[in-house]
Amino acid sequence: MRIQFLGTSSALAAADRGPSALLIGVADPVLCDCGDGTARALEQAGVAAGDLAAVIITHTHPDHCSGLVWVLQQMRLGDRSRELTVYLPPPAVAGVKAMLAWYAMEPEKYPFSCRFTPLSREAFHPAEGLEAEAIPNDHMGPGSGEASFSIVFRERHRSVLYTSDIPSFAHLKREERYALAIAECTHVTPADIREAIGAGAERIILTHIPPQGCETGGGPAGFAYAADGQIIEV
Ligand SMILES: [Zn+2]
Repeated sequence: MRIQFLGTSSALAAADRGPSALLIGVADPVLCDCGDGTARALEQAGVAAGDLAAVIITHTHPDHCSGLVWVLQQMRLGDRSRELTVYLPPPAVAGVKAMLAWYAMEPEKYPFSCRFTPLSREAFHPAEGLEAEAIPNDHMGPGSGEASFSIVFRERHRSVLYTSDIPSFAHLKREERYALAIAECTHVTPADIREAIGAGAERIILTHIPPQGCETGGGPAGFAYAADGQIIEV
């Protein structure tokens, strides 16, 4: 499985990082999160927005989805004819449609069919041969239900965990071993990450990196920071 980081900053703007966006796969790439500037980051990665297999939004904070309308606009202005599914938290479906109407970007105007599918605990296939499982967490507030998700991607018996933003690791305690864990480090610390999934991941890489870094005391020893544009094959 090929992962490319398109944006690795936290919710604070940074000169050298864009906000959250990940590209999963090459031939049929899936975009997971879509912060501001993702359309440009796709261009820099050599990927046409029109070639995306699907888009997944983990939650509706702007650093994870404010670039969506711009990505959809690239698809609309391009020659995309293939259907698009945008997966997003159930409470966000009505809001994203209202947001697109505000931009005069109603999906009915696109030259392709665009579906908004609520994430659930059911595994789904955002691209051929790629399975994804959405795991709800309480990042949007205690008891916020299915408003925010972590995502596990599985391809040919290799699993990659993307925590997205999380209040803790409580929802992720499970048996699965990950070839790669992409762990945010703004709301949880590297020490938390090591304790929660250190033994369950062959490799851990930190993202959602605040301008001052993720250092808490001793720093993120033993961890690597992701960089915009970086590609990892697992
Ligand atoms: Zn965030």
